[in-house]
Amino acid sequence: MGEARPMMGTEVSVYLWSDDPELGAAAVEEVFAEAARIENLMSTYMEDSEISLVNRLAAREPVVVGEELFDLIQRSLDISVLTLGAFDITYDSVGKYYDFRAHQRPDAETIEAERANIDYHFVQLDRPALTVRFSREGVRINLGGIAKGYVVERGIDLLRGQGIRHAIVTAGGDSRLLGDRRGRPWMVGIRDPRQDGEVAMSIPLVDEAISTSGDYERYFDEDGVRYHHIIEPSSGTPAGGVHSATVIGPDAVITDALSTSVFVMGVDRGLTMISTLPDYESIVIDADGQVFYSDGLVQPENAEGLTP
Ligand code: ADP
Ligand code: MG
Repeated sequence: MGEARPMMGTEVSVYLWSDDPELGAAAVEEVFAEAARIENLMSTYMEDSEISLVNRLAAREPVVVGEELFDLIQRSLDISVLTLGAFDITYDSVGKYYDFRAHQRPDAETIEAERANIDYHFVQLDRPALTVRFSREGVRINLGGIAKGYVVERGIDLLRGQGIRHAIVTAGGDSRLLGDRRGRPWMVGIRDPRQDGEVAMSIPLVDEAISTSGDYERYFDEDGVRYHHIIEPSSGTPAGGVHSATVIGPDAVITDALSTSVFVMGVDRGLTMISTLPDYESIVIDADGQVFYSDGLVQPENAEGLTP
C-alpha cells in the first residue's frame, strides 16, 4: 500500500508492505505527520518555523533551538568541511533572491554584495547551550539541501519501529529503502536530466538511501542559460558542468547533502571526494550527457563497458 502527497515544495511518498492493512495505513499516516512536523521546524517559507526565527535573530544574539534543528545544522557544517565548502547552508543569502516559478533571479550587483555573506564559518554553534549564532549581519541559512534526506530517514525509522520490514519513503529526489521488495531488490530510477519522464538508468538497491540532485528540479531558462537551484557558494551563481549527481549509501541525510555537494564539485572533484567514503557511491551525468561512476560501482559482468 502507499500514497503520495505534495509537501515540502515537492512530493513525499510512502510505499510499504504490511500483513495488517489497518496498521499499514496508520504507519503511512505517521510518516506524513512526521514530514509535516519537520517541515514546520525547518522551512524558511514558514515565518514561524524555528529556522526562520534563527534567520531573523541569530546575527544579533545566540538563539536557543531544539536539539533536532541543532543536530541537523551541525551535520550540515560537518559536510561543509568534508566537501571543502561545496555544501554550504549559508548559500541562501543569494538563494533567497531566486523565485523559479516567477523566473526571478538576483542581478549581478546583488550577487556581488550577498556573496560575502556565504560562508559556513559564520554559523557558530554552542552545543551545551543549544544555541545558533551568526557572526555577521546578513547571514541566512537554508536546509533545502539536507532536510528531505532527514525526512525520509526519520520516516523509515518510524516504519521500522512499527515492525514494517519492506518500505520505500521518498521526498523529491531523496529515497530511503527499508529491506528489499519482498525477495527482489527495489529498482530506483535516475531521471534522464533532459528528457522529461524518461529514466536514464535503474539501479537495484536493498536497505539503502539514494539521492539525486538535478538542474531540472527547480529552474527557468533565459537566453539559453539555465538558472537552477543548486548554488556554487564561491560564486553565488548556479553550479555548471553537471546535469545530475546521484549518491547512494546507508544514510539519507548524508546522501542528500552529498548529492548536492557532488553537483557543485563536478565530476572530478566530486568523485574524488566520494572515493574517500567507503560506504558511499556516486553516478554523475555531466553537461554533455556522459555518465561517470565512482570506483565501487563498476559491475563485474560488464565492467569494461562501464568504466569511465
Ligand atoms: P532537491 O531534492 O530539491 O533537488 P537537492 O538535494 O538537489 O534538492 O538540493 C538542492 C537544494 O539545496 C536547493 O533547493 C537549495 O535549497 C539547497 N542548496 C542549493 N545550493 C546549495 C549549496 N551549495 N549547499 C547547500 N545547500 C544548497
Ligand atoms: Mg541533496
